[in-house]
Amino acid sequence: MTESARILLLAGTFEARSVPKVVATHIPDAGIVASFAGAVAELPEIGVPTRIGGFGGIDGLTSYLHTQGISLVIDATHPFAEQMSRNASAACTNAGIPLIRLVRPAWAPHPSDTWRSVRSLDAAAAALPPGSRPLIAVGRKEIGKFLHRTDVAATVRMIEPPGHTLPPNWTLILARPGKSAPEEGNLLRDREITHVVSKNSGGQRSFAKIAAARNLKLPVIMIARPELDNAPTYESVEEIGAAALAILRRD
Ligand code: NAP
Repeated sequence: MTESARILLLAGTFEARSVPKVVATHIPDAGIVASFAGAVAELPEIGVPTRIGGFGGIDGLTSYLHTQGISLVIDATHPFAEQMSRNASAACTNAGIPLIRLVRPAWAPHPSDTWRSVRSLDAAAAALPPGSRPLIAVGRKEIGKFLHRTDVAATVRMIEPPGHTLPPNWTLILARPGKSAPEEGNLLRDREITHVVSKNSGGQRSFAKIAAARNLKLPVIMIARPELDNAPTYESVEEIGAAALAILRRD
C-alpha cells in the first residue's frame, strides 16, 4: 500500500511548496512528483522531483497517470487555474484514482468595504466606469480581456510582460505585488487609482492591495473564483497530509 504510493502534486501556489514535506510526515515512503505549468521562469525549491509543462489535456494527463503508476493526485494549483483543475478531475475519473484539492480560503469583504463581485474577467472589464483610473491586477494572459477599455487610464501590474500592446494611456508596472498595505497604498495614491480589479485569489501574499483599497475606501471589482466539481477539498496542508494517508491506507 503506502510503500508503493505514488502521488502527483499539481503545484504552482505558495501552499503547494510545503505539501511534500507534510505528506512525508504522514507517508514517509510516498514518491511524490511535483508538476509546474512552467509559466514563471524560476521554480521554487520543493524538495521532490519535478516535471514542467502541460500534460496535453485530459487524455495526456490520463495517460501520464497510467504510465507513471500514480495512485493519488493532489491538486494544489491556483484557485483560478480552472482548466488544470477540470482536467485533473476528468483524468482521475478516467484512470480510476482519487483526487483531493488544496484550496486556500477566499477573501471576504468587511462591512465597510465596497466590493463589486463579478463572475468573469469580461464582467470585470465591463464594470469599470468610463474615465476611471483602475489598478488592474491580473495575469499577462488575462489582460487581453480589458484592452478594449481605452476610455479608462489603467495601471497594470504583472510579473512578466504581457503578450499584448497596452493602450497608450495605460501604465505598465512589471513587478510582484507589494508586500504590505502601506506599500500598496503608496502605489494607489501615486497613480491616483480609483478602482482596484482583482481575482479573489485568497491568501496573504497578494492581499496587501485589497487591504490598501480598504484603508483608502476605494471600490474593488472582485472576480469570483470559478466553480469546480465537488472533489474533496481542504484548506490547509496539514489536512491534505491526513487525507492522503486516509486514502492510501484504504488501498
Ligand atoms: P489553467 O488555465 O488552468 O491551465 C492551462 C494549462 O496549463 C493546463 O490545461 C495545463 O496544460 C497547464 N498547466 C496548468 N497548471 C499546470 C501544472 N501545475 N502542471 C502541469 N501543467 C499545468 O492555469 P494557468 O494557465 O496556470 O493559470 C490560470 C490562472 O491561474 C491565471 O489566473 C494565473 O494567474 C493563475 N495561476 C495559476 C497557477 C498554477 O498553479 N497553474 C499559479 C499561479 C497563478 P495541459 O492541458 O497541456 O495539461
